[in-house]
Amino acid sequence: MVLDANWATKWLTLCAQAMAANRVYLIELDRAIGDSDHGENMDRGFQAVLEKLAETPPETPGAALKLAAMALMSKVGGAAGPLYGTAFLRASTAVGDALEVDPEAWARALTAARDGIVARGKAEAGDKTMVDAWTPAAEAAQAAVARGTGNILEVLVAAAEAADAGAVATDPLVARKGRASYLGERSAGHRDPGAASSALILRAAVEAAA
Ligand code: ADP
Ligand code: MG
Repeated sequence: MVLDANWATKWLTLCAQAMAANRVYLIELDRAIGDSDHGENMDRGFQAVLEKLAETPPETPGAALKLAAMALMSKVGGAAGPLYGTAFLRASTAVGDALEVDPEAWARALTAARDGIVARGKAEAGDKTMVDAWTPAAEAAQAAVARGTGNILEVLVAAAEAADAGAVATDPLVARKGRASYLGERSAGHRDPGAASSALILRAAVEAAA
C-alpha cells in the first residue's frame, strides 16, 4: 500500500461520508456541551472538500491536504473551522510535494497538525478539546516509527486507535477551552465533539488504505 494522491483523495472522500453518517451523532455531542452545530459544520465543510476535489483533482497528498485546509477554513466556521484549516495546512507543509506519504511523513504530518491546533487554539492536553485526540495520535505514530515499523498501515492504525481512545478519554474531563468551558464542571460526563470528529477523520485515513 502506498499513500499517494489517490489514497489522499479516497481519505477525504471517506471523511465526507463519515461526517454525513455521523452528522446527528456530532450534533448530539455538541448539544450536550456546546451549541449543537458541530455535525452540521463538519458535514458542510467536507461537502465543500468533495466539490474542490472534483474541480481540481490533486496530484500529490500534500496538494490534497492543502485543498482540504482551504475548504475547511472557509466552510466549517465556528471554533473548529480555523483549527481544522490550520491542522490540514500544517500537515500539507509537513508532507511537502512528495508523491507518497511514508511512515515518517505521516508521523510528521500528525505532529504538525497537532502543533498547529495548539498554536491556534492554545489548548493543552486534558482541556477536553480536539487536542486530546491529535496528541495521542501524533505520539502513537511517532512511537510506531521509533519502533522501526516500515509498514504504513500499522502506523495509520496506531494513530487512529490512539485518537479514538483519546476521544473516549475526554468523557470525564472538565472543559477548559472553547464553548464547553462555559459549563465548567457540568461539561464532565460528555465526549468532546471535536475530539470525536478528529477520531473519525483518522479512522477514515485507515479505511482509505485498507
Ligand atoms: P463552536 O464551538 O464555535 O460551536 P464547533 O462546535 O464546530 O464550534 O467545534 C467545537 C469543537 O472545537 C470542540 O468540541 C473542541 O474540540 C474544538 N475547540 C474549541 N475551542 C478549541 C481550542 N481553543 N483548542 C482546540 N480545540 C478547540
Ligand atoms: Mg458548536
